Formats: sequence, structure tokens, C-alpha cells
Amino acid sequence: MRTKVFYDLPETACYGCQACAQICPVSAISMVPDEEGFLFPQIDTDKCIECNLCEKTCPTQESVAKPLFNAIPTNVDAAWEKDFDARLESTSGGAFYIFGKKWIEDGGVVYGADFDDKLHVRHCKAVTIEELQRQRGSKYVQSDLSGILKAVRTDLKAGIKVLFSGTPCQVAGLRAFLKKDYPNLICIDLVCHGVPSPLIFLEHLKYVEKTSGKQIVDYKFRGKERSG
Ligand SMILES: Cc1cc2nc3c(=O)[nH]c(=O)nc-3n(C[C@H](O)[C@H](O)[C@H](O)COP(=O)(O)OP(=O)(O)OC[C@H]3O[C@@H](n4cnc5c(N)ncnc54)[C@H](O)[C@@H]3O)c2cc1C
Repeated sequence: MRTKVFYDLPETACYGCQACAQICPVSAISMVPDEEGFLFPQIDTDKCIECNLCEKTCPTQESVAKPLFNAIPTNVDAAWEKDFDARLESTSGGAFYIFGKKWIEDGGVVYGADFDDKLHVRHCKAVTIEELQRQRGSKYVQSDLSGILKAVRTDLKAGIKVLFSGTPCQVAGLRAFLKKDYPNLICIDLVCHGVPSPLIFLEHLKYVEKTSGKQIVDYKFRGKERSG
């Protein structure tokens, strides 16, 4: 397979949102981990038809990003989960879970970050409250969006109410990928200063397993168990 890097996008500018890979009409783009473990698009030049849809969908491009971020907030509210025990389950004030629970109870679905059984962080769809529970808690790792943007679009076209939660870059990637607003879509982005490397996290897990002699079956970042 002959490959080329993604047009002239520097690796440090890429958010790994996967909008390019999932918009490609000939599936010529794969997301490949770079040496630090962050996903970066790689184009199979044997498949590429040079339509440039990838570049036209990339939210690092000013022409793509500007219309997405032009909206002026019409209202600003602040909220948190009032129940102390319920708030312990969330990393911050628990607003995500309140929105998500109401959304599912009203027949919608929620896309957010979860661990798979190998503790890889990836986005997934919650249709039940139990699945939503697993999305609670910040995972300080780049979440893998493989297949997710397409799945969101399929749900939206079927008229399903979708709540998508992710980093601001992921929300921008989704909106760039969708190319239009849907009345049945709500996006929640979180305050985010950047995502740490999945490779470092996996190395950390391996180190802890090796030094403890135990297998890690679940993981919580910034747990609040000792809060008073
Ligand atoms: C990568 C990352 C960087 C952050 N940087 C900052 C920061 O710079 N300053 C600051 O004040 N707070 C930061 N946070 C904290 C974050 O803003 C809050 O913890 C978050 O908003 C939790 O709110 P909650 O209690 O309502 O959500 P919870 O009920 O705890 O639910 C967590 C929500 O975050 C989503 N989520 C979790 N991990 C990821 C991930 N890896 N990628 C995408 N979505 C994810 C879940 O889908 C869910 O919607 C960061 C969080 C993450 C995941």
C-alpha cells in the first residue's frame, strides 16, 4: 500500500477527530497512532480519488471552523447535581449525567466516552441508563471515535434524538462531518485543555499491573472517594 500523510497538516495541529477518515467516500484514510500514541490520518494513495473532501471537512481549517464557532451564546446558565452522593460519581458537577438521563428517559441516545474491556477509551452509544453510567467520569486520554460520526449521522437521519458529548475538538469534528444542523441533535462539550496520549496511559496500566502483580479491571481518573 502506498501512503501519504494528510495534506500539509502538521501532526501537532490534528485533533484526531476522525472527520476526514469518516467522510472519505472511498475509505482511503486510516487513523494510525503516531509515535506518542495519538491518532493521525494516513491516506492510501492507491484508493484516494483526490476529491479533497477530507481537507474541506477538517476543523483545523479556518474555512471549516469559522462557521462552526461563529454562534454568539444567547444564554449562559450554571448548574450542578444537588445530590452529594450522585455528584461523587461524576468528575465535576455532574451536569452531563443529568442531561443524559433525561435524554434517555425521553427516548434519545447518548454518545460519550467509555472504556472497552481492554481499558481503551473510545466513544460509544448509550441507550440505557446503565450504559450512560459508564460514560460518567473524565477519562484523561484521547478517546477513539472510530465509526462514531457515521453512527451519529445514521441515528439522526432515522429521526432518533442524539446527545453527543465530547471535547470541543470532537464536537467541531462531528459538526464539520455532518455539514448541517439537525433539530434532533444536542452537543455538549467539556472544558478541556487537551487530551493526554493513549500510549502513555496503556504504558501506565502495564507498569501498575507489573509492579502490583494484579490485573486492572477498571480505572477511575480523579476519583472523589476521599472528598469530605
Ligand atoms: C480530556 C479532558 C481534558 C480536560 N481538561 C480540563 C481543563 O483543562 N480544565 C478543567 O477545568 N476541566 C478539564 N476537564 C474536566 C472536564 O471539563 C469535566 O470534568 C467534565 O466536564 C465533567 O463534567 P461532569 O461532571 O458533568 O461529567 P461526568 O458526569 O463526569 O461525565 C464525563 C463526561 O465527559 C466525557 N468524557 C470523558 N472522558 C472523555 C474523553 N477522553 N474525551 C471526550 N469526552 C470525554 C464523557 O463522555 C461524559 O460526557 C477535562 C476533561 C477531559 C476528559
